Amino acid sequence: MALTGLEIYKQLPKKNCGECGVPTCLAFAMALASGKASLDSCQYVTEAARDNLDSASAPPIKAIKFGNESVMGDETVLFRHDKTFYHPTTLLIQVSDSLNDDEVNAKIEEIKGLEFERVGLQYSIEGVAIVQESGDAARFAKVASAVAAATDKSLLLLSSDPEALKAALEPLASRKPLIGAATSDNYEAMVNLAKDNSVPVILKADGLDALEELVTKAQGLGYKEFVLDPGSRTTVDTLANLTHIRRLAIKKKFRPFGFPVITFTSKADPLEEIMQATVYVAKYASAVVLNTSKKAHLLPLMTLRQNIYTDPQKPIQVEPKLHTVGNVDENSPFYITTNFSLTYYSVEGEVETSKIPSYILPIDTDGTSVLTAYAAGKLEPEKIVEAMNASGIADKVKHRNIIIPGYVAVISGKLAELSGWKTIVGPRESSGIVSFSKTLS
Ligand code: SF4
Repeated sequence: MALTGLEIYKQLPKKNCGECGVPTCLAFAMALASGKASLDSCQYVTEAARDNLDSASAPPIKAIKFGNESVMGDETVLFRHDKTFYHPTTLLIQVSDSLNDDEVNAKIEEIKGLEFERVGLQYSIEGVAIVQESGDAARFAKVASAVAAATDKSLLLLSSDPEALKAALEPLASRKPLIGAATSDNYEAMVNLAKDNSVPVILKADGLDALEELVTKAQGLGYKEFVLDPGSRTTVDTLANLTHIRRLAIKKKFRPFGFPVITFTSKADPLEEIMQATVYVAKYASAVVLNTSKKAHLLPLMTLRQNIYTDPQKPIQVEPKLHTVGNVDENSPFYITTNFSLTYYSVEGEVETSKIPSYILPIDTDGTSVLTAYAAGKLEPEKIVEAMNASGIADKVKHRNIIIPGYVAVISGKLAELSGWKTIVGPRESSGIVSFSKTLS
């Protein structure tokens, strides 16, 4: 059971020097107890106290790394708005070793093409799960090697046969794949294989009681690089298991469940599969293994993941500088918007569709949207004029027209007065830009 703040406080040096980032040892003890600080921040803790406090200072969910910089776990809160979620759900696509060579190659090429750009950020599928379904250890090893040679994505090797897994893993150990799954029947061989090759291993059991028992037994082998699979494959059971595991790990600091959790989709229809995966990404899968590798299926899932795993206190922002769309010239229209990425890229996309080369100046509103920025006093005429002057727009166009978002039409008079430019009130929504732009000429 986790130590309370007062129990931790008793073991701290009580110098109240503030070097740990909080003013007192008591405040630091409270932060440690809630998982919001690391014991490493205090250099005065004695070794004896450090040993005693280890469990209190360990993160509630261990970070497990594998493959190409994939990190799972290391989350500290139940709800995103409490702080933030740190490590986006790792997404992996299954490749069965029962596919023939041509089918394997086609699948790998499809997976490699899963690159997306949204609100100025690049993102992609992180991994490939090679699944032994052929029953043939040599075939499993061959497919695993072929996938590894064709892509640098993180690898998951899945087989219930420790010998088959060993044959596939050993040539690829330097890629640090995740392996699985260890069950109550084979856990000694599986965990020792993982330990010998310094790779993480999935522990799979049917239900939470059996999973706790398996984790305890596996830890008894002197290894702790685990990823949990509670065995459920229906959406509702998996959601319940994910929620229980996360609550127990965060709220109760229940150490057997202080590991990342992996889930597997089970729906045959790709759209139903994506709906199932969205539930797992929302709460609280550290990794999801999918069948579909179609871009159109995966885009909504990755968009959802991107939204959940942004820091709610730090909206994604674009650089507040003068941007151009197309081959601008001195007659190009000049738009004002905010530097909230979603707002900016919505405007940019519509300006591009209008096929009229234009300038866009996103004002630094700390990444807030137009109405929020205005309500917070971050989209004031004075600030816009300052940004215009800094951007050099007056030297780039010969007209003196500013197009402002329709939602802030109220600032048009003062902006015209301060800037000396004519203020044109644009559409309220970016979707109106294309038709609005036709009125400009
Ligand atoms: Fe106390 Fe250590 Fe923090 Fe100093 S650095 S206030 S001794 S916990």
